[in-house]
Amino acid sequence: MEKKKVVKVEEIKKAAEEKRCPVQKAAYYIEEFLKGPMCGRCFPCAFGSYEAGVRLRNIIEGSGKEEDIFALRRITEDMIVASLCKRGKDSAEFVHEWMETDAFKEHVEGRCPDIDCPAFIEYIIIPEKCTMCGLCKEVCKYNAVLGEKKVKYKTGYLPFEVRQKRCVKCGDCIDVCPTGAIIVTESRKKEGVKV
Ligand code: SF4
Ligand code: SF4
Ligand code: SF4
Repeated sequence: MEKKKVVKVEEIKKAAEEKRCPVQKAAYYIEEFLKGPMCGRCFPCAFGSYEAGVRLRNIIEGSGKEEDIFALRRITEDMIVASLCKRGKDSAEFVHEWMETDAFKEHVEGRCPDIDCPAFIEYIIIPEKCTMCGLCKEVCKYNAVLGEKKVKYKTGYLPFEVRQKRCVKCGDCIDVCPTGAIIVTESRKKEGVKV
């Protein structure tokens, strides 16, 4: 039987570093660590990394609280001291490093400063840039784009806009828009703006 290749923690860290948001980096890292290098032989690392994953998910998904940040600090400190091997200790150090920014606190206050986490962002269409080509509506699998494609000799178009309640923030529409009319911005819900 072919032996399963164990991914090195440094490789996972390198891939995590490609993300913009430090919370995303930590969450991605822990998720991949749990899938591969984490062998489960010692409790501080096995249980700690599992719990860290849950806490990080809460923060990313917008339900994070101060206590999740405290818990992450406690978990990583315990892992650094008590993990049996370097993989567990290094993993905790990486998360610690990402936690040195204000990004974690800002997430529990309702914003992702890197405009990266789906729970805190919105896709919007800038009307002045939109040529009403309809490509975004065609590509959206979630029926989240409203609007009418422009045809000759017709007036009174329904402008193109993203229905926030339906949008899953997949980014497919941005990829096809020929004029750069779709942008990602901070969610207006947090500021009490009706969308
Ligand atoms: S610290 Fe090392 S031995 Fe302990 S669970 Fe993590 S990877 Fe396994
Ligand atoms: S981000 Fe995805 S779900 Fe949202 S409008 Fe664009 S294509 Fe549709
Ligand atoms: S793809 Fe861009 S230009 Fe075309 S309708 Fe959508 S937002 Fe407007």
